[in-house]
Amino acid sequence: MEKTSVKKDIVIIGAGMAGLTAALYAGRMNLNTIVLENAIVGGQIANATGIENYPGFMTVTGKELIETVQKQAENVGAVVDEFDIIERLELQNETKLVETANYIYETPVVILATGMNRRKLPLAEESKFANRGVHYCELCDGHMYQDKIIAVMGGGNAALDAALFLTKYASKLYLVHRSQFRADEITQEKVKQNSKIEIMLETEITKLLGDTRLRKIEILDKNTQSSSLLDVDAIFVNIGVEPNTALFKDQIKLSKRGHILAGEDCRTNLDGVFAAGDIREKEIHQLTTAASDGTTAALLAEKYIAKLREVN
Ligand SMILES: Cc1cc2nc3c(=O)[nH]c(=O)nc-3n(C[C@H](O)[C@H](O)[C@H](O)COP(=O)(O)OP(=O)(O)OC[C@H]3O[C@@H](n4cnc5c(N)ncnc54)[C@H](O)[C@@H]3O)c2cc1C
Repeated sequence: MEKTSVKKDIVIIGAGMAGLTAALYAGRMNLNTIVLENAIVGGQIANATGIENYPGFMTVTGKELIETVQKQAENVGAVVDEFDIIERLELQNETKLVETANYIYETPVVILATGMNRRKLPLAEESKFANRGVHYCELCDGHMYQDKIIAVMGGGNAALDAALFLTKYASKLYLVHRSQFRADEITQEKVKQNSKIEIMLETEITKLLGDTRLRKIEILDKNTQSSSLLDVDAIFVNIGVEPNTALFKDQIKLSKRGHILAGEDCRTNLDGVFAAGDIREKEIHQLTTAASDGTTAALLAEKYIAKLREVN
């Protein structure tokens, strides 16, 4: 079957907070906009049960928040297409090509908003205790553990920062890492000075135990090869993230960590290609910053399109 060619003003890839916010702004500027999502709409936040740091809501579920942004975007004419796999993406030329199973979209602007996945704890029990003691986002879920015992897993800057942050809440915090820390010296020093933190190096978490929620972790001392159990209320896993760049990593400049290199203006190394949300290299990855990027990318995309129209 021959594929249909369709002209768009903007193609947005990824329907998380960043992509949908970009669609909302683009739609409001009467730009012919499509959001292509290869899974279900919503991204990382889709299953969150209680978001308490998104301005305007005391508490909101991820589903409710995302459904509202999706409706706002669709109300102003943006099309959101779920489960649509992109087979080919060409970003180099002034007219970019985005090919799916049925269509070839031609567009001057692509906004990349493909987000990331946090690396999961590689243990079989992870799914049983996910959000019931196993967490990945200290800024989002740390407050649930006021005066509780927390373990943090990881040894890079992000893990040590998470541990320091979580001592706001924890009565005691174990910092567990399988080798030596990779974090910078200053952060390591802060961790060592913090009386709530017990550092456990050369130590691996080998099992999660509990009933309806996590109660204990089994840890292996790699030097002595002896195992022991620790009572914990929660473990925050911070063993890296995996940005979703497979689709375009050969065309776009990426940082060492594998995120897209783009400044606060969301412009990438390619004209007409913007990066928004967690996929962009930056320090803070939150819903508010994803929405902010979506806004910036769409507004600057509109300026870019207006300039192209002036010239052509
Ligand atoms: C468990 C958890 C809880 C969190 N809680 C909070 C919180 O309470 N408050 C807060 O501010 N932040 C929270 N965060 C962080 C927040 O979810 C992210 O910062 C935000 O969702 C990032 O949005 P995004 O649109 O940039 O990316 P994502 O949410 O990752 O969305 C990217 C989308 O792109 C899609 N995609 C990927 N590759 C492709 C492709 N090739 N083609 C098409 N589509 C593609 C993905 O399927 C996904 O839908 C939490 C994160 C997690 C993991």
